[in-house]
Amino acid sequence: MFSIELINKLKQINTPFYYYDTALLHKTLMSVLEAANQYNYLIHYAIKANANEKLLRIISHYGFGADCVSGHEIKRALKCGFKKTQIVFAGVGKTDDEINYALSQDIFCINCESLQEIEIINKLALKIGKKQRIALRINPDIEAKTHVNISTGTKSAKFGLSSNELEFIISNKDSFSNLLIEGIHFHIGSQITDLNVFAHLCVKVNSVNKRLLESGFKIGHVNFGGGLGINYDDPENQIPDFKKYFAIFNKNFVHTINQSFHFEPGRSITGQCGILLSKVLYVKSNEKIKTIILDAGLTELLRPALYEANHKIMNLSSKGIETLYDVAGPICETTDYFGRSLKLPETKRGDLIAIFSAGAYGEVMASRYNLRSFAKKYYSSKLLDESNKLNIV
Ligand SMILES: *Cc1c(COP(=O)(O)O)cnc(C)c1O
Repeated sequence: MFSIELINKLKQINTPFYYYDTALLHKTLMSVLEAANQYNYLIHYAIKANANEKLLRIISHYGFGADCVSGHEIKRALKCGFKKTQIVFAGVGKTDDEINYALSQDIFCINCESLQEIEIINKLALKIGKKQRIALRINPDIEAKTHVNISTGTKSAKFGLSSNELEFIISNKDSFSNLLIEGIHFHIGSQITDLNVFAHLCVKVNSVNKRLLESGFKIGHVNFGGGLGINYDDPENQIPDFKKYFAIFNKNFVHTINQSFHFEPGRSITGQCGILLSKVLYVKSNEKIKTIILDAGLTELLRPALYEANHKIMNLSSKGIETLYDVAGPICETTDYFGRSLKLPETKRGDLIAIFSAGAYGEVMASRYNLRSFAKKYYSSKLLDESNKLNIV
C-alpha cells in the first residue's frame, strides 16, 4: 500500500495529519456508480461521514446527490457542487432555522422523524406559501447487528417514526396542507457487515410501501439509507462489494413502477481512502506491557474511544522483531487508545505510524479538546496540503 518513496515523503510532513488517497476514492466511486446503475438506483453520499471539501468536490463530480443532517451540511453540499434537487435532509432534531433554510433552497426532500417535526415543517411551509416534499423516516424495529452505539433502527432508538405514528399520519392524511408526502426513508445503522440485515429491512420496507400506496399516498421514492460496512481488519480490501449489496435489494424489495430508489452510503465511499499518520512520541514500559504514545489521539480519530472500534495500525519505519504493544494517544482521557496488545515491530521514538480506514468519521469528528490544533490534510495525487501551498513531491 505504501511504497518506500511515499513513506519517505510522508516522513517529512509534520504529524499528525490525514492522508487521502484520491485515486482510491475515484475507484470506489466508479465501483458504486457502476453497481447502482445496474438497477437505476440513486446515490446520495452521506456528508456526515466526511465533509472534506476536496473529497466532496470529487464525489459530486460523479453526479451523486447528498444526504445531509444539518443546515451547514446542506450549505457545504451546495458549495461543493451537489445539485439542490439531489439533496435530502434528515436528522432527528432539525431547528426552525435549518428547516427554513431547507425550504428556501428547494431541496429534493426533507426526511421527517417525528409527528411534531412534520407539523412544524407544515407550519413553516405555510408561512411562506410553499408546498414541501417530505419523506417519512420509518423506524422498522430491526437489529442492525452492529455496535450498539451505531444501531439506529430499533424501537428503543430516538430515530424515525414508529408504526403507531405512521398509522396516525395515515388517518390524518389530509391535515398537512403544505406538505407533499412523497417518500419513505429508512436507515437502520452503520458498519453493517451481515448483509442479511438488509434483506430483513426489505421485508419491512415492502410492507410500509404497500400500506402507504394502498392508503392513497403518492409515494414516489423509497430511500433505504446507508450503513454498508467496510473491512477494518484488512484495509487492503479497499472497495466494499457494492454489487452484492445492491443485488440484495434487487432480490428482496418488491419493485414498483413510478417509484425511484435511493441509497445513502457514507462510510463505504470514503472510509478506506483516508489514513491518519502519526509519529511516536514516547515508548514506555511497565511490568505488564509496553505502551506507545503517539502524537495523534482521540481528537483526530474518535472511533476507538467512542465505539470501541479497531483500526489497523502499521509502523511504516521499522522492520524490527515483533512484540506486543498498547498504542495510545496523548490526550488526558483513559479511553484514548487506538489498540491494546497489538503485535508491532520494535518501535522507537520518531517512528511513523499509519492508522488505516480513517476516511469516514475521522476528520469530521475531530475536536480541539485539550486545545490541540486541527490536523492538516494531504492528498495522494500530488501530495499537496489543503491550501495547495506545500508541494513536496
Ligand atoms: C449516517 C447516516 C447515513 C450514512 O451511514 P453510513 O453507515 O456511513 O453509510 C445515511 N443516512 C442517514 C440518515 C444517516 O444518518
